[in-house]
Amino acid sequence: MGSLTGVAVHANAEKPTVGDEEAEGDPAVFLDRDGVINRRSITLVRDESQLEILPGVPEAVARLTEAGYRIVIVTNQRPVAWGIIDGEDLDRIHEDIQAAIEEVGGRVDAFRSCRDGFFDECACGKPEPGMLVSAAEELGLASEGSWMVGDKPSDVEAGRRFGADTIKITGSKFPWERWKTAPEADHHAQDLPAAVDRILAEQPPTPRTETSSQTVSPRRGS
Ligand SMILES: [Mg+2]
Ligand SMILES: [Zn+2]
Repeated sequence: MGSLTGVAVHANAEKPTVGDEEAEGDPAVFLDRDGVINRRSITLVRDESQLEILPGVPEAVARLTEAGYRIVIVTNQRPVAWGIIDGEDLDRIHEDIQAAIEEVGGRVDAFRSCRDGFFDECACGKPEPGMLVSAAEELGLASEGSWMVGDKPSDVEAGRRFGADTIKITGSKFPWERWKTAPEADHHAQDLPAAVDRILAEQPPTPRTETSSQTVSPRRGS
């Protein structure tokens, strides 16, 4: 546990290189974190005591794992660069998220976080697609058949630039954000469980080749 958390903090991909060379990879679901996995906080989620995983989220991720999707959480955590969030606390938050998901038979294959400052130009902070690109290169993921689920326009843009289908979560807004118009995502869903319903309805499960003879994750029940 923890071996996949906090790795490859910075994604130094240049431009998105989606296309033929990634067409052979596994389909993945890229998940934004705040507002999708856990409840957003106006004071930020700075350590694991402030982590509130949203209802039904671990089970929803487990459904994706069982369907054969690789799961990558991609999160902008720029306050780390200013010392507002401690990087080790961030790692622990991600370990707790992983544990909650593994508890019900799912698995996050990689976490990617942009820890660069708000005014740093980097290739990883969404709406740049660098975190998705680097995870795709490392894990052998295809943009074809993959999805990006997030609650902000920058999530939708990053997913689109990577070449994934996009779902915007609409249920995470603070009251004063309700006026904001929805960006053009391919689909909209109230929360992650509803987004997973949409993914599994839209595209039938695609088991990974090495687990194609199995109908459930081998980690289930272990
Ligand atoms: Mg978010
Ligand atoms: Zn960055």
